[in-house]
Amino acid sequence: MNPRAATKQQLDALLDRLAGTAALYAPARVRNWTEFRRVHSYREIDLTRVNTKQPAKAALFPQTEPLLRFAGNSTDASTKPPTEQVWFGVRPCDAAGLAFLEKFFSGNSPADPYVQARRSHTTVISLACNEPAATCFCLAVGGSPTGTRGTDLLVTDLDGRYLAEPVTGKGETLVKDLPEASPADIATKRKLAEKAAAAITLRIDTATLKKKLDRSFEHPTWETLCLPCVNCGACTFLCPTCHCFDVTDETRRGQTARIRVWDSCQFCLYSRHASGHNPRVTPRSRYRNRVMDKFSYTVDMVGKVSCVGCGRCIIECPSAIDIRETVTALVQALPEE
Ligand code: SF4
Ligand code: SF4
Repeated sequence: MNPRAATKQQLDALLDRLAGTAALYAPARVRNWTEFRRVHSYREIDLTRVNTKQPAKAALFPQTEPLLRFAGNSTDASTKPPTEQVWFGVRPCDAAGLAFLEKFFSGNSPADPYVQARRSHTTVISLACNEPAATCFCLAVGGSPTGTRGTDLLVTDLDGRYLAEPVTGKGETLVKDLPEASPADIATKRKLAEKAAAAITLRIDTATLKKKLDRSFEHPTWETLCLPCVNCGACTFLCPTCHCFDVTDETRRGQTARIRVWDSCQFCLYSRHASGHNPRVTPRSRYRNRVMDKFSYTVDMVGKVSCVGCGRCIIECPSAIDIRETVTALVQALPEE
């Protein structure tokens, strides 16, 4: 389907229509940042920030999620179909994160039914980035400010008008009644995309990095790289692709729910075995695990690095650790052969 064009009024009307037929999530203002919130009108949406505080990860993988409920000997393990939801204003790196999660959680047999059910009830509308933030590096890890991986419809702000490019059938259905975009609209988008791409200069040779990482588990450079890390876990909780979880049973008034909650490989109890042995007892080993996971282990598991370059871990790390500097230092320090 050819790209469509919309005025601001047409886009606002579409969003209000969607809010009436599905749960609409979009960036909304919270103090001095924005977060994905359920909104009921386009008026609640705030697209002034490049990135929301947290990624769109909760669309498929919420921070807490009941898996089943039971009381006494009865068990209700049936999974209730999730509500139909539309996530609007998802940046291309976050959409790529959703594609990663979908692939990761369907890679085992059986596939994760919770993530699968959510994805089939979710429509993702991305917003291209015309002005990347100083911490953005999607292009360095195979993404782009105008990337379409993981989205159903890519919308670009052409300064008052919007270009809407369907990526899937769901995206096509959303914009089928809008007029076709003009050649001038498409040319404007191309110029904006070139400008946005030029703003991101970092490149990472992820294939070489992986080869080096695989040979350097015990390299002394990890000793110094890990020193500032306080293992708070903020980087993993804010990462669009981090996918580790823990499962707990919680009982209230005789009803028990088995709940999964996000976990972090940066926490000291994360790897502790039932025997009490902990193979990642040092901060160094935990920090190394995060970097190895992003650039080596998930490449082996799902064929992709699990860093989408959103830069949230750089913005929020209390120790000012910058993963771009970590990766650059590793490429320099680790041996070729
Ligand atoms: S946010 Fe920074 S200090 Fe906290 S665990 Fe991650 S790298 Fe370590
Ligand atoms: S990393 Fe790229 S896609 Fe993500 S917000 Fe920045 S420019 Fe946009």
